[in-house]
Amino acid sequence: GIAFDGEKFLRLDEAKVPLEDRAHQFGDGIYEVIRIYQGAFFKLEEHMKRFERSAQAISLTLPYEMPKIVELIEKAHELSGLSEAALYIQVSRGAARRDHPFPDAVARLTMTVRPVKTESTSALRHQGQRVKTTEDIRWSWCYIKSLNLLPNVLMKQRALDEGFHDAIFVRDGLVTEGTSSNIAIVRGGTLYTHPANQSILHGITRQVVLELARELCIPVVELAFTVDELKEADEAFTMSTIAEIVPIRQVNETYIRNGNVDEFVVTRLLQKHFEAQHRGILMK
Ligand code: PMP
Repeated sequence: GIAFDGEKFLRLDEAKVPLEDRAHQFGDGIYEVIRIYQGAFFKLEEHMKRFERSAQAISLTLPYEMPKIVELIEKAHELSGLSEAALYIQVSRGAARRDHPFPDAVARLTMTVRPVKTESTSALRHQGQRVKTTEDIRWSWCYIKSLNLLPNVLMKQRALDEGFHDAIFVRDGLVTEGTSSNIAIVRGGTLYTHPANQSILHGITRQVVLELARELCIPVVELAFTVDELKEADEAFTMSTIAEIVPIRQVNETYIRNGNVDEFVVTRLLQKHFEAQHRGILMK
């Protein structure tokens, strides 16, 4: 893997940031994860727009103009020599003596590029996952891709410890999203997913899936659903940059369609078209 430490490119295992960087001290920063398929970035512009929105939402001035950031991203990819990879980019409010108010420091942009573990994600896409619902204890600005992921980390680990693949957050009785994914259900042929408001991250994969659904004439309703509606759905799946579209075969102790994910016709259709799109197979 390759890294950018805010000044130079170097090997990932050699990269360092100062102890008093505000990302380290406060989690004061934002990030993006972008997939590279067959040597090309997927939805780079959309990720960069969200990156700018997250920065703006926390009153963080990016250290470079967007064309320069894209140049750095392309350079990092080139140096990595990787064709199936993920680029992680983060900006922190810089390094300064630890104190809560914003420092005079210049924001620090860092990046890593590393290969993605495609075997495990591809197995899950075929077999589906077991998820556990959990109270959404996060703050109310979940649309910001903030570095503060403690609730996500804790709930993911709890779910794993209990034999599930992931946790799904529930706020005021309504399903919001996964620890690192958005979630949708299919009921009576219609696709339902939480509206893109402050309670969820506005996933790029979610957006791609909604566009695909519309092209495939699958009705889409951006409306939140309850845990019972999730359990009783005809189909359910999560969506994210790294795992892509993953069917949900079990919610807590309940199987969806007896856990038979191969009967998830809408999910399978979306998976097929999603794959075709990022592999550049189906051209519109
Ligand atoms: N929600 C959360 C909380 C996430 O961390 C992620 C992954 N970044 C997503 C949704 C999915 O977003 P995307 O499709 O842009 O990766």
